[in-house]
Order: sequence, then structure tokens, then C-alpha cells
Amino acid sequence: MVASGRVEVRVRFAPSPTGELHVGGARTALFNWLFARHHRGKFILRIEDTDVARSSENFYRVVLDSLKWLGLDWDEGPEKGGRYSPYIQSQRLHIYEKYAHKLLEEGKAYLCYCTPQELEDYKRRLEKEEPLRYSGKCRNLSSEERKSLEAEGRKPALRFRVPPGTVWVDDLLRGRVSFENRLIGDFIILKSDGTPTYNFACVIDDSLMKITHIIRGDEHLPNTPRQVLLYCALDFPILRFAHIPLILGRDSSKLSKRHGATSVSYYRGQGYLPWTMVNYLALLGWSTSDSQQFFGRDELIQKFTLERVGKSAAIFDPMKLEWMNGEYIRRMDLDELVNLLIPYLRRADLIEEKMDSATRQKILKVARLEQERIKVLSQIVDLAGFFFTGDFAYDPIPVEKRLKKDYVPSLLEEMRMRIEALSPFEEKELEELLRRLARDFSLSPSEVFHPLRVALTGRMKGPGLFELAGVLGKGEVIRRIERTLEMHKNSL
Ligand code: GLU
Repeated sequence: MVASGRVEVRVRFAPSPTGELHVGGARTALFNWLFARHHRGKFILRIEDTDVARSSENFYRVVLDSLKWLGLDWDEGPEKGGRYSPYIQSQRLHIYEKYAHKLLEEGKAYLCYCTPQELEDYKRRLEKEEPLRYSGKCRNLSSEERKSLEAEGRKPALRFRVPPGTVWVDDLLRGRVSFENRLIGDFIILKSDGTPTYNFACVIDDSLMKITHIIRGDEHLPNTPRQVLLYCALDFPILRFAHIPLILGRDSSKLSKRHGATSVSYYRGQGYLPWTMVNYLALLGWSTSDSQQFFGRDELIQKFTLERVGKSAAIFDPMKLEWMNGEYIRRMDLDELVNLLIPYLRRADLIEEKMDSATRQKILKVARLEQERIKVLSQIVDLAGFFFTGDFAYDPIPVEKRLKKDYVPSLLEEMRMRIEALSPFEEKELEELLRRLARDFSLSPSEVFHPLRVALTGRMKGPGLFELAGVLGKGEVIRRIERTLEMHKNSL
């Protein structure tokens, strides 16, 4: 209870560490986190790692790291502890066992001796019948029959005895949904190796951890009637559910690897800002009445409500995500941007491990020139690598169009001499020099600017020519002109 007497909101994110954190999972985590923060409740992280074969310590780390990076801090869970510890299911097996026994004793569950092979064969025979469900073969075994099956060396699983009737779920987003029990079929709650199945462990943990709302992806809706039946059988109160719409790719099929990268780590590595991800993911299925696009943290928490989560699927659009990241980069403090760019420049070997203040100054100038254009941090290497090394590759198209002209060698030769004599080497003076040069050679200014741009950067587009020359400095500008002249001599 909270002070006002209202029940405190407690929500959870319950990933299985069987892969990296997917954008869909991150969106589920975010909606739970926002809901908890909006209601001043608790956000709980629980690791559902009972599928030993598919879970790994590495993925567990990656999932936690991704959540931390996104800023989705949890109030209870791994590394944090809490009243209902442990929060890792593989450390709670004795709890599931206890409840499984209770159900067995009460006749609400029974031992099933069918082997995986037998179940598989049965499934194959049924193939055309909808829906596929357990035959009920072991539902009413006598103790003699059980003994003789055990004598064969079979290890039983525990199956839940689904009672007749209908399950009604009042979903906060979808309204009332009903499920016919007869279509469900008795399902396993404890496998023959003693580990619980997802539905069983989930129900017990959600109940014992005093979760109030289950906010999760639509794909879990078929699990909900099973979970509701278990709540009833265990005399646990039924929780409130909100199934949030699926995330689709741009072709309207379920978002998957086919649509390109979908893991949070990938976007992090590329240089998306954590808040861009949060802001973008918040809009996947949720909106304000005025379709606001950009939010600060507190504002998002204050505005987020389940009532404004839509019913139709959301489309994951990497182009919009990139655009949004570019917008956030533009709004960034320059020093902060420099700090974020450094690791990319370092990884590309464009700057030294130990950086002097002149290099930092240079990065700052480059960042100022690129801040408007860069959309993802890693793009700095391609967009601005030429600032840090003279040894860049020339793009063949501008070389063909701008440098392979008869007038270019003599122009560059003269340019080099005049620049050498230029003092001070400043943007304004350089511009005047180049315009004068154009007049002296009876060329248009762009016939002078373009070859110089290609000589200095290897490409056609980029930041302002005089500004970029200013960042390079006189010595480097001359060196690059000479390199181009050399190339010309070798007929490019
Ligand atoms: N471990 C489940 C998953 O990762 C959790 C589903 C749920 O939220 O109930 O999909």
C-alpha cells in the first residue's frame, strides 16, 4: 500500500536471456517503466531463464547492459535485490516445486508419462485438426498404471488439468476477450526434469512478487487464459493485463531479423543516443492527442498513460529513428558531442589513444561543422575521416567530373603558390584569394572551388569549403593540393 491507501503499482519486465534485447522487448520494458514512474510505483526486473538450453550468462549481461544504457532503471531485481528476492527464476525452482505439489495433491494437476516422441507422433497424426491439444491420455491413470509406466523408466511431467468452462480476460487495452477452455488442452507446468514452464513460473512469480499489472506484447495473449486458470487453481488474485500491439516492419510483417538489425546493442554500437531510442520506442504504439514527437524524460513520464496506447500494430521505421537521432544530435551540447565522437574516431584509428588538447580542439571544430549533418555517431568516420588523415580514398566520380580538366593542374599549381604566401591563413582571406584566382584564370568561382574541395576531401559534398580548409590548416591544405598534383601527373 502507498500512504494514500491506494495499492502501489508494481509492474515487471521479464526477459528470457536467450538473445540480445530486441527493440520489441525494449519497448515492453519502456512501457512498464513509464507506467511505474508515472504512478510512482515500482518497476521490477525478473529474469526468466528456466529454459536452460537457450539461456546464457552472456545474454543476461547484454540485456541488463541494454536496459541500463536506455536508462530504464529497476527498483527490484538482479544486482539490486528487493523484498521478493531472488529475481532470477533458475534460483526459485524450489518455490515452483512447492506450488506444483500443491496442485498435484489437490487433483488440479496430474503426472503425465508421455515421452516427447509419443507427443510428437500424436501431434503429427492430429496435424490437420485444429486446435492441437494434448489427448488427455494420462489424465485418469490408476496408481497401477502409473507404477508400471514408472517401471519402464519413464520420468513424469506435471500437467495442469484444465477445467471445463470459459476464461474471460478484461484486458485494459483490448477490452473483454474470451477463451474456450476446451480448446486449450491440459498443459505442462513442470517438465520431467523438474523445471517449470513459462506460464507456471510466470504466474507464481507475478503473484508472489505482488505485481499489479502485466504489460506485455500481444504475442502473449494466447498464454493469458492459461495463466488465468492457474491463478484460479492456486487461489491467487487475477492480475490486470494490458497487451500492447505488435511491432511490424515497414512491409507490415512481424518485425524480425529480415528487416535488418533489431537489437538495442546494434543501435547503440552504431551511435544512436539512448534518449533517441527511448523517445522513438515510446511512440511505437503510444501517442499524445496532439501527436507530439519529442519529449524530455519527465515530460514523457508525466504524459504516458495506457489509455493512449493504440490498438493497431506499430511500424518500426529505421528512417524515422535515424531522423530523430539526427535531431537530437543537433540539439546536443558540443562538448558532449565531442566526447561521444571520440570512441568512433579512435576505433577507426583516426586519432591516437592519448589525445593532446590540439586534437580535442580539432575534433571540436569538426563536430561544429558536422553537427547539422550527422544523424548517427558512427557516420563521423565516413563524413569527416578526411579531417584526420590525408590518406583518404578519392571518390572516382568527382575526380572524373572536377579534377580531370585541362585547366586544373596549372590552377592548382598557382593556388598552391598563392596559399603559401597567404598570411594570415583565415577563411575570409582564403575566399578572397580563390575568387581572385578565378578572375585571373577567367573561370567561374565554382570552377575553382570544386577542384579544391575534391583535392582536400576526396569528395563532392561536405561542410563549407573555407571552414573546412580553416580546420585543416595551411600546411595540410598545401600538402593535399600537392598530392592531387602528383595524382594528376600520373594522369589521375
Ligand atoms: N519471458 C517472457 C518473454 O520474454 C515474458 C513474457 C511476459 O511478460 O509474461 O517473452
